[in-house]
Amino acid sequence: MQAPPPIPTVDIADPSILRWDSIGLMLIRDFISEEQEATMIHAFHARDPAKEGKKRVSQHFGYHFDYSTFGASESTFTPLPSYISDILPRLPIQHYLPDQFTIQYYPPGSGIPPHVDTHSMFAEALYSLSFGSTVSMTFRMAGPNDARKMRLPKRSAQDMETAAASSASSTPPGEEDKPEEVVHPSWELVLPPRSLLLMTGPSRYGYTHAIRPRKTDIIDGQAVPRQGRYSITMRSSRRGDEIGCDCAYPGVCDARIRDEMAARAADSR
Ligand SMILES: [Zn+2]
Repeated sequence: MQAPPPIPTVDIADPSILRWDSIGLMLIRDFISEEQEATMIHAFHARDPAKEGKKRVSQHFGYHFDYSTFGASESTFTPLPSYISDILPRLPIQHYLPDQFTIQYYPPGSGIPPHVDTHSMFAEALYSLSFGSTVSMTFRMAGPNDARKMRLPKRSAQDMETAAASSASSTPPGEEDKPEEVVHPSWELVLPPRSLLLMTGPSRYGYTHAIRPRKTDIIDGQAVPRQGRYSITMRSSRRGDEIGCDCAYPGVCDARIRDEMAARAADSR
């Protein structure tokens, strides 16, 4: 079930800023310049020349994403290159800043399955800077089907990595084309190159986001072939007592799922 995207509010002072306040979503067009974009693409391939090809590739800066906890590593830290640290003072939320950065390269046609990023391990603001190519991101309010999927015992660490981290290598063939039992309609948001997406509130906690694997996107009624796309996902890690979540979306909240499992384990004793 597909719906048109909700209509954004355009910032009066800066028309490059689009807001969907009811779901906590913001898109800033031309957040970086073409020069910055070229620098980032060059640096990416200079760092991993051997990995260029048809697969998704990721690079980590700051505290690395930890695929065993879905949080940020305690120990592995890669200093930020200037092309990342330079943009931090311009992020819309300044009272806390990201400390975990994942750069991904998506070859044309590749996607990410629908997922909700872990709630408990990262603070509310979740950023995604896109460059290299336009891509459509699919949003859908999570429903019972998503809640059920997140509670399946067969979810291995590998599945969780694919779903929660949006950084795994690839999805099994056919997996992303399966029709879903959609409860809420999905809609697509066009992410132009050099744009910054900020997810907070409902869009962060209660919606799945995904990129459909396909070779072209329909933009303003025209089929636009995808090029290689890059994204920098920026997250702020929670530590110690900060870990947890009391969001309004317990169905897809990893903190609540963990509590449920603990309660069930206690009951069965
Ligand atoms: Zn939550």
